[in-house]
Amino acid sequence: MQPFRIGIGHDIHALVEGRELWLGGVKIPFQLGLKGHSDADALIHAIMDAMLGALALGDIGQLFPDTDPAYKGIPSIKLLEEVVKRVAATGYKIGNLDCIIHCEAPKIAPHRAAIIKMLAMTLQIEQSQVSLKAGTNEGFDAIGKGMAIACQAIVLMIRE
Ligand code: MG
Repeated sequence: MQPFRIGIGHDIHALVEGRELWLGGVKIPFQLGLKGHSDADALIHAIMDAMLGALALGDIGQLFPDTDPAYKGIPSIKLLEEVVKRVAATGYKIGNLDCIIHCEAPKIAPHRAAIIKMLAMTLQIEQSQVSLKAGTNEGFDAIGKGMAIACQAIVLMIRE
């Protein structure tokens, strides 16, 4: 086994009316929410793909197909718990996680601490191992027009 493995994840979901907005397992008060089969938590989806990618365990589309009714409306934090179990079974643990949320609105800063706390708790790591950044798209593209939110995550895995 290699001492270190690194993985990257990316996700984007459309912002629509009539949906709750969930990011990093935290419900964010906003008039729009992300559209998707699960709760559409794009941040958690990116994190799961980064973790799975680091260990070449496939991706969330393979593990949790959006054609499977079992995952309809499911909180993505539950899916993350399953990924944590699978990762733990490989003998690797998270060194650190760095994430970016790209969105025009709402402001993420007021929710950053709550999201980091929720992620650290679910990933069973210290809050100091989790970094969360956010930025707008300066008005460009679907994200800049407020039609979507995209998230990126990169994770370093360390052999136990
Ligand atoms: Mg997704």
